[in-house]
Amino acid sequence: MLNALQKIKEQAAQTLANAQDSKALDELRVKYLGKKGELTTILKQMGSLSAEERPKVGQLANEVRASIESLIAEKNAALKAAMLDKRLELETIDVTMPGKAAPLGHAHPLSKVLEELKEIFMGMGFSVVEGPEVELDYYNFEALNIPKNHPARDTQDTFYINDNVLLRTQTSPVQIRAMEKQKPPIRIISPGRVYRSDAVDATHSPLFHQIEGLVVDKGVTMGDLKGTLEQFVKRLYGDHSVVRFRPHHFPFTEPSAELDVQCFSCGGKGCRLCKGEGWIEILGCGMVHPKVLSICGIDPEIYSGFAFGMGLERIVMRRYNIDDMRLFFENDVRFLNQF
Ligand SMILES: [Zn+2]
Repeated sequence: MLNALQKIKEQAAQTLANAQDSKALDELRVKYLGKKGELTTILKQMGSLSAEERPKVGQLANEVRASIESLIAEKNAALKAAMLDKRLELETIDVTMPGKAAPLGHAHPLSKVLEELKEIFMGMGFSVVEGPEVELDYYNFEALNIPKNHPARDTQDTFYINDNVLLRTQTSPVQIRAMEKQKPPIRIISPGRVYRSDAVDATHSPLFHQIEGLVVDKGVTMGDLKGTLEQFVKRLYGDHSVVRFRPHHFPFTEPSAELDVQCFSCGGKGCRLCKGEGWIEILGCGMVHPKVLSICGIDPEIYSGFAFGMGLERIVMRRYNIDDMRLFFENDVRFLNQF
């Protein structure tokens, strides 16, 4: 029995030394010292020993237990220290290493140019007003002097929620809402998303952006319209820009005009950008139709005003020489990263 104890002691010393982790160490503790462990099994047999042998075996058994316990404690401390070392090594912070730059996005080209346009108009005393994209037929058409059966409705076919509710085809309903709420003087721009049921191609999208402006006050004339918009074009395209106004027709303005800027690429001679015209169409504008003012409760005998509207996409396409509108909405970072 003494031999058996000696053997347990030696075996334990060896296996404990080889234990790789605390789980293995725990298993060994159970194996040697547990209730059904090897040492306990031997101690249980002590009753069969003679009175002479018993103290010797008892003493050795205690020694073996103590030695195994201290080995386990030592090994446990060693394992913990090793683990800490390993963790410290893994978590070392080298303050001399260059930092990791977090990838930072940037504004979409449409947003960038829109911000620029807003700033130009805000600098001229306009405030920015927004309105709903899901709009009543009344605000999108009726109030803008486009009754049912008006041919202008054909060119602005949109998506209908029901007979009276639709996705707005223009940002003009914001002007109506503003005139209903606010008495003149009014000086606002209304940028935002608009919708048409157009098939997608390089120059058409069922969703695009407009930015419209409205000025209503006493004594506003066509001269104010021309001066304001000429100033706008010069801020956008440079002081040397030359503009011209061409007569046009819109149901909600009278008289109406389109504003062209002399091609900044060829200086008016005609090139690919201006399609040989020498001029590039920028926006539509005109004096607010007296009927529209009356509909909004503003007396056209006292007040007058002008309005203008432009497509944001076209301005951005010209700015960056982009030839396909679809690129704006595809969210391809290879495209977007260029701006
Ligand atoms: Zn040109």
